Amino acid sequence: MPGITAKSGVICPAGLSETENTAGNKPRGPLIEHSGRSAGMPVKEPSHQVVPVSEPRSLYLHIPFCPSICPYCNFHKMRRNEGLVAAFLERLTEEAGALYAHFGGELDTIYFGGGTPSHLSDGELAAVIAILERTWGWPAKKETTLEADPLTFDRNRLDTFGVLGFDRLSIGVQSSQDDVLRFLGRLHRGHEGLAAIDMALEAGFNVSADLMTAVPGQDTARDLHTLAQTGVPHLSVYTLTIEPQTPFARRGVTVDQDRDADDFELAHTVLHGYGLERYEVSSHARPGFESVHNRVYWRGSTFFGLGPSAASFLPVRGAIGERRKNHVIKAWLAGEPAEVLPVTAEDYLLEMLMTGLRTRHGVELDTLAARTGLHLEERYRPVLEDAFKQGLLRRVGRRLIATEQGLLRLDGLLRRFFQQPPQD
Ligand code: SF4
Repeated sequence: MPGITAKSGVICPAGLSETENTAGNKPRGPLIEHSGRSAGMPVKEPSHQVVPVSEPRSLYLHIPFCPSICPYCNFHKMRRNEGLVAAFLERLTEEAGALYAHFGGELDTIYFGGGTPSHLSDGELAAVIAILERTWGWPAKKETTLEADPLTFDRNRLDTFGVLGFDRLSIGVQSSQDDVLRFLGRLHRGHEGLAAIDMALEAGFNVSADLMTAVPGQDTARDLHTLAQTGVPHLSVYTLTIEPQTPFARRGVTVDQDRDADDFELAHTVLHGYGLERYEVSSHARPGFESVHNRVYWRGSTFFGLGPSAASFLPVRGAIGERRKNHVIKAWLAGEPAEVLPVTAEDYLLEMLMTGLRTRHGVELDTLAARTGLHLEERYRPVLEDAFKQGLLRRVGRRLIATEQGLLRLDGLLRRFFQQPPQD
């Protein structure tokens, strides 16, 4: 099953989620890969009807511009120029207007991911915000996040981010070690990433930082302790993965799988000691600082995606919903309609397993049955029984939760569900 890498968080084709700009393999933007089991080929041209959207309502905006291109990155990104940014803003105005016409109302969360959204100037960010103000409104009711590279802001700019309406920053620190950052092709140095976290905390933002693990030459324990000691209330920890067609792949860079597994366990142990609990495979937070926006993806709620390569999960009358995936920038600027994948009950069931089992909350069996009309426990009984016996899954009330062992082996566990035909 391509695209599922549980510990790296890559369950999506072009990118899904805590969507920061800088980690190589975190789930990017709201793009959830379709199981492909029953929906057939993507069809072009959505056929939306105006459908009421249930709470929560979230929006992801993909801003694909980066100051430099990292050799491990397979996200949709590019260097910027003034003409390209102007065209981006023009197309965004059209796209937001069209989507809003079908799905109006206020938003609970807004997430600016990329790319490096903080690579836009203050004026450009204000122009994007004006587009959202004219449609859904700005800021979001619960959480408004900006992904930011450590070198793109100082104390004054943080004040501007606050005035613009952002309340949460996701900072792409990746490591506190200069050699590791150099290897990853990052422009900042270790002390600059740490200073960026300190500044953002002092300025009163809800801060998340990204840390990459299993990087050759990295002292992972030192990085985990150093970042946790900043007092950051949310840390996203991602394994370096070597994606095809990237410069790292062409250079033959490899990641040691034992080291990968060791770092995954180490992250849990070290961060737990600082009160940062793993609440999703890659996400650790102090109680109350869990990402509100990402929960929307993990729980299968509606989200709107704007920008090149962004995805949406939209309600459709008489069906579970449809996933819509935007084209990359050239076709997106030309106004080509997004690809649309209808989501069947079986697709949704498997998607919710993929995302729900990543989280400490797990999968709510009764909610899933009510939404799909399908009963997971009946349809996948042999796989479930086997997983219970092996200590990979446990049942807590009416929720299905992956154990620590299950999280470590989540890729293989999920593969079994996809490989076994459901029992009718
Ligand atoms: S900064 Fe840009 S190139 Fe580097 S990992 Fe993030 S999106 Fe990719």
